[in-house]
Amino acid sequence: MEESDKQPDNLTKRSNTTRKTDSSTDTEDLLVPDMQTHFMKDHGVDATSQTANIRTADMITIPDLIRKKRDGGQLSDDEIKAFIQAVKEKTIQDSQTGAMLMAIWLNGMVSAEIKALTREMMSSGEVMEWPDEWKNFMVDKHSTGGVGDKVSLVLAPALAACGCKVPMISGRGLAHTGGTLDKLESIPGFKVEQSREQILEILDSVGCCIVGQTETLVPADRVLYALRDITGTVDSLPLVTGSIISKKGAESLFALVLDVKFGRAAICKDFESATELAQMLVEAGNGLGIRTAAVLSGMNSTIGQCVGNSVEVIESLETLKGNGPDDLMELVTTQGGLLLVMTGLVSDLSEGRKQISEAVVGGAALSKFQAMMEAQGVNSDTAQRLCSTNADYYSVLRKAKHQLELKAPADGIILEIDGLVLAQVLHRLGAGRSKAGEPVNHSVGAVLLVSIGQRVTKGDPWLRLHYEDLALTPDQRNHLESALTVGADKKIQTQQKRTLVEKILPEKYQ
Ligand code: URA
Repeated sequence: MEESDKQPDNLTKRSNTTRKTDSSTDTEDLLVPDMQTHFMKDHGVDATSQTANIRTADMITIPDLIRKKRDGGQLSDDEIKAFIQAVKEKTIQDSQTGAMLMAIWLNGMVSAEIKALTREMMSSGEVMEWPDEWKNFMVDKHSTGGVGDKVSLVLAPALAACGCKVPMISGRGLAHTGGTLDKLESIPGFKVEQSREQILEILDSVGCCIVGQTETLVPADRVLYALRDITGTVDSLPLVTGSIISKKGAESLFALVLDVKFGRAAICKDFESATELAQMLVEAGNGLGIRTAAVLSGMNSTIGQCVGNSVEVIESLETLKGNGPDDLMELVTTQGGLLLVMTGLVSDLSEGRKQISEAVVGGAALSKFQAMMEAQGVNSDTAQRLCSTNADYYSVLRKAKHQLELKAPADGIILEIDGLVLAQVLHRLGAGRSKAGEPVNHSVGAVLLVSIGQRVTKGDPWLRLHYEDLALTPDQRNHLESALTVGADKKIQTQQKRTLVEKILPEKYQ
C-alpha cells in the first residue's frame, strides 16, 4: 500500500493545453464595465449584493477570473493571489471555486501560473520556521503512491542518521492506497498528531519525525482538495502540483525529493505522463526556493514483499536491521542519496547512496527509528522489543485472526504479480478506507512468498493473506489469483525483477 493520502485517479494530460474558444461569441467579455452592470442586472444578477463578487485590487471580480480561465487565458500573479485569498477567507462561493477548478482542469496552466498557485497556496497558512543552524539540512520526500510503499519508514531515520533534519509530514491512505500514518499507527502508542513545538523538540533530540498535517498548514489546500474531490477535478497536473508542493513549501525545506511512480499500480499509468508530472513538480519546488529532484520509478508489482499496515511495519523494521529487499533498498538509497547531494553533505549520488546504505545496514537508522517511536509516544519497552534482533513482532503488533496461503497454479517462472489487484482485494478486506476519516484494519495484509523471476512448482504457496472476519468471497479469491502470472515459456526463464528507478530529474544527478 502506498503513502499518498490523496490519490487522483489516473492523471490526464492537461497541463498547459489551451482549449480553443471563439471569444467573439462571448458578449459579456466585450462589455465595458457600465454596460456589464446593466447586462448583469438584465440577467438578474445583482453585482453589488454578492460578497463572492467582491472586486479585487485591480477591479477584477471572481466571475471575471473564472471567465478568463474558462476562455483559455493566463491568470496573472495578482489574479491567482486574489483567487486563493478568496478561498482562504471564504469570500468565494463553493460553486465559484468549483467552476474555477474545472476551468483549470480543462485549460491547464502555464508554468508561471503553477508557480504563483503553489506560492499562494503555501502562504495561505502557517509557514514553519527552523533554527538557523538547521536551515541547510531540512529535507523531506513525497511519493505519488505505490503498493507496499514503506520507503518513508526507512528513509526518514536513515537521513537523520546522516545528519539531516526530517520534518516528514505524511498522509493517510484512501481507496486502494495506503498511507504512512496508517502504517505507523499499527504500532501501539504511536502518535502522528504533534504540535509545532513537539515537532521542534523531536527534530532537536532525534532528527526526524513522521507526523500528520496540522490544521494551520496550507488551509487553502484543504478547501480546494475537498472541492476537487466532488467536482471531478482531482486529476489535473497543475492542481496536483500546487497541492503537493505548497505543503512541502510550508515545511520550509532546503531540499525535497519526489518519487513519481508510473505503471499499473500508480496514478500515472505511463512513463510519459509521470515525466510530465515530475518536471512540473520539480519546477514548482525550485520556484519556492527548494532544491528539488524527482525519481521516476516503475510501479507494476509491489515494493518489497509485504502489503498492508502491520506487515509493512515489520518489513520496514527488518530492512532497518539490514535484511531489506533489494527494490526497497534501491528506492531508499536513491532518494536519500539525492537529498544528501542536494544538501551538500556528499559530492555525488554514488557516495550519497553508500552513506544511506551504511546507515541502514549498520544499524544507525534503526536507533533513530527507535528514538522516533519513543519521542512520538511509543513506550520504551515496546520500541525496544520491535527493534531487537529476532523480534517477536506479534507480541507487540496485532496479528489478523486468519491466514490463508494461495498456491501456484502451474510449474514455471513467476513473470508478474499485479500490485493493483492485490491492493484492491486488501482494501475490500479492510486494509484501506473508502472515505476520509474511516478506520482501517491494521492487521489485514499480504506477504508475497515468491519473487518475480523465481521458479515455482504447481502447488507452491506464493502469497499469505492475513484477514479478519471479513473473508474472501469466491470472486475476490479469483481476482487475487489473477494477480499472479506464471510463465511456462523456457525463453523467458531469465526474467528477473527489474530495478525500479528509471530516471532521475534534473539529469545532472543521474
Ligand atoms: N497528494 C496531494 O497532497 N494532493 C494531490 O492533489 C495529490 C496527491
